[in-house]
Amino acid sequence: RWELDWLENRARLAPDSEAVIDADISMTWTYSELNNRCNRVANWLVEKGIRKGDRVALLSPNDICYLDLLFACGKIGAIFVPLNWRLSTSEIRYILEDSTPKLLGYHSSFTKTVADLNEMNMELFKVEKESYFKDSGFTRDIPISEEDPLAIIYTGGTTGKPKGVVLSHRSILWNGLNTILSWNLTSEDTTLTYMPMFHTGGLNALSIPLLMIGGKVVIAKEFDPHSAICYLNKYQCTIVLFVPTMYHMLVETDEFKGTEFPTIKAFLSGGAPCPLEIYEAFNQKGLQFKEGYGLTEAGPNNFFIETWMANEKRGSVGKPMMFNQIQLLKEDGTVAENEEVGEVLIKGKHSFEFYWKNEDATKETLKQGWLHTGDLAKRDNDGYFYIVGRKKDMIITGGENVYPLEVEHWIAAHPEVSEVAVVGLPDSKWGEIVTAFIVLKNNASLSVEEIKNYCSYKLGNYKIPKKIIFIKELPKTHVGKIDKNQLKQSVEAK
Ligand code: ATP
Repeated sequence: RWELDWLENRARLAPDSEAVIDADISMTWTYSELNNRCNRVANWLVEKGIRKGDRVALLSPNDICYLDLLFACGKIGAIFVPLNWRLSTSEIRYILEDSTPKLLGYHSSFTKTVADLNEMNMELFKVEKESYFKDSGFTRDIPISEEDPLAIIYTGGTTGKPKGVVLSHRSILWNGLNTILSWNLTSEDTTLTYMPMFHTGGLNALSIPLLMIGGKVVIAKEFDPHSAICYLNKYQCTIVLFVPTMYHMLVETDEFKGTEFPTIKAFLSGGAPCPLEIYEAFNQKGLQFKEGYGLTEAGPNNFFIETWMANEKRGSVGKPMMFNQIQLLKEDGTVAENEEVGEVLIKGKHSFEFYWKNEDATKETLKQGWLHTGDLAKRDNDGYFYIVGRKKDMIITGGENVYPLEVEHWIAAHPEVSEVAVVGLPDSKWGEIVTAFIVLKNNASLSVEEIKNYCSYKLGNYKIPKKIIFIKELPKTHVGKIDKNQLKQSVEAK
């Protein structure tokens, strides 16, 4: 039997504990039920001719079938490829051509999309059909080692064409162990997974670690603040991870102001920088709010912050996790001192193996075991880390470095500003100019001059946006990150 089959062990230890709940359809599965489902799917996959190393793709909204297929693939050494359902058909085709799965599972809500893909050389199956729950009886003796790929998760493409991040059994196992140890997860914990499960945030950040420790994962499909508040209390959730956009939607509702969340130990934000006034909205209610930093290629979880420090070190992602080495590398190749900005380098067993069929990108990113994240951070004198933004987003204006996040934090703190994004636009005189896209709150009317004036209270002259563009809404990527490329293009196209 596969020694890495921790789901099997969990099912043996606590067969009747609730493992997964689908909140939208009020269904619950215990650990033994979940493990049985996965064993049966594994058998079905083998019968379909899936062998070690073969890819099995999935196109579905958040649903237990993600777990069925992930664990089933794990049990037989196959590789699970969850697809981003918000992509266009041609983008999905690109990922399928890159990963060449033998099978594509789909949810009936995607019947039309898969009909457009049927010229591709793969077999399709509907995940709601119980037919793929083949009965067990088959004994597997497939040798699987830690380095064998378990999943390929395609990155969001915020920085170009999606790249297939190959996560091995080891990466997923160690992200789980690290997260459990560092965030003190227990079998008493329950999370609510609204983050898409094709994304590392929905799959690996909390869902998998919680299943490893015997906690409960409540799955829900489309985020809306009303159902989120309802489910958080109904299922007595204790820990939850949303992206800042979801928090933004949540804190703007009257319902949030009037609701207590007695069971929640921590609201976690990750995936993108979190505006400080979101911390404020939670702290005012006496609720714990913490920020995490992660990426598909490493875990995603990398840091933790103690509950009692989260307020004092607002905006910090904390200290590196238990089994994780972090280094900040300056542009001149030397290691950053405290308070100096450098690129985040990560080394740990939770890190990915390679980019699927992309040796160049792998070589560029993984150097002597260190993952070069392309993100910039600094460490304070107490050892707490602060993410200051992406390396490629840093603006160089008149020879000075400007980190957009610093400017964004200050502008977002203005009471009449709803959202802001700062980018560098090419400029013949300055090289780049700091440009702010601002969404005002309803009924607010701020002028460009007023914003510049406000900025001058806090920001050095060269950091004050030279260009300010008021906009109704900021474009977002599939996981709710602000799409800075699109913002830049919208101006360049004019
Ligand atoms: P791509 O890799 O194609 O650019 P992506 O950005 O969607 O796509 P993910 O792995 O989903 O890839 O996201 C990881 C990135 O999100 C990090 O590299 C970092 O830039 C950003 N990020 C994550 N957490 C934070 C945080 N707390 N603060 C600031 N940025 C964050």
